[in-house]
Amino acid sequence: MSTGWVWDERYMWHDTGHAAAFLTAGGVLEPDEHVERPATKRRLRNLLEVSGMLDQLTPLNAREATAEELMRVHSSAHVEHVQEVSNSGGGMAGDQTPIGPGGYEIVALAAGGAIAAIDAVLSGEVNNAYALIRPPGHHSGIDHSLGFCVFNNVAVAAEHARVVHGLKRVAIIDWDAHHGNGTQEIFWDQPGVLTISIHQDGCYPPQSGLVDECGSEQALATNINIPLPPGSGVGAYQASVEQIVVPALNAFRPEMVIVACGFDASPMDPLARMMVHSGGFAAMTASVMTAADELCGGRLVFCHEGGYAAPYVPFCGLAVIETLSGYSSGVEDPFLRGYESLPFQDLQAHQASAVEAAAPDLGKLEEASS
Ligand code: ZN
Repeated sequence: MSTGWVWDERYMWHDTGHAAAFLTAGGVLEPDEHVERPATKRRLRNLLEVSGMLDQLTPLNAREATAEELMRVHSSAHVEHVQEVSNSGGGMAGDQTPIGPGGYEIVALAAGGAIAAIDAVLSGEVNNAYALIRPPGHHSGIDHSLGFCVFNNVAVAAEHARVVHGLKRVAIIDWDAHHGNGTQEIFWDQPGVLTISIHQDGCYPPQSGLVDECGSEQALATNINIPLPPGSGVGAYQASVEQIVVPALNAFRPEMVIVACGFDASPMDPLARMMVHSGGFAAMTASVMTAADELCGGRLVFCHEGGYAAPYVPFCGLAVIETLSGYSSGVEDPFLRGYESLPFQDLQAHQASAVEAAAPDLGKLEEASS
């Protein structure tokens, strides 16, 4: 079994500048590093190195996605706007989405990193892959950047799998703590792509990601939202995967699964209020792998999304990549015991109701897949 690995130093050069968390500094807001900063990702890559994990992975080279590849999911106006902001020395590419000078090349390299992972898995070069790409992508819609996301990496990857490799059905599972609204928008009318988002109810974007957002008439039931109450932990997330995600995958029968893998559902994250620890992320990964093994020969690509707790993201990422590769580095998560013993980690009654309310119409989903 081999696991591909996408990384490029230039991902760390994506310059989000200074801010107070994500707000523009000034007045009473003292400037600090922007919350979407290199450290969360670089430290994951560093932990993979010192744990010996990196030696077990098959390196895959990222390339810049072409404008044509980006325009499979984005409008030409959006792609051109990002180019203009980048060429004019950087600035806001959209709401809460700063890029630096030359940022276009880096955001295209993030989408291209996701494409490289798809190519490696679908050509059989590797069994599965983890793309540690930056910036994240899942808030980016057809015509706009949003929430640190410029181009929608997983959407570009899914369309690459469909258009270039001829896949008819691709599933995207998004467990970033925030709603994958951009991915939902892009595939709203597309019955060939199943989009599932597990997120903190009402966190970001506001009023987005409700259970009754199921896709348009021609793609009905192929968009599934699982909004969970704040405070949800391993029990609520595992129930979401077992009771909603896996049955939906079985009904839809994807030929490949892409995971939009954010780690901001961790207890340490500054931008959400969830409690999933490294063991929880590993368990969700294992469940998705089992489903993918049965449905599509284990063809699975993970693309990194959010996650803003620099000390903790690396241990969650290591746990996921160990599970994907089947290799145990022997490194223990030093935070795990504390997070396992947090009260309410098990599925709570109000969380069970939220999971139940997200149940899709499996009959319609089967129809969509036929
Ligand atoms: Zn997020």
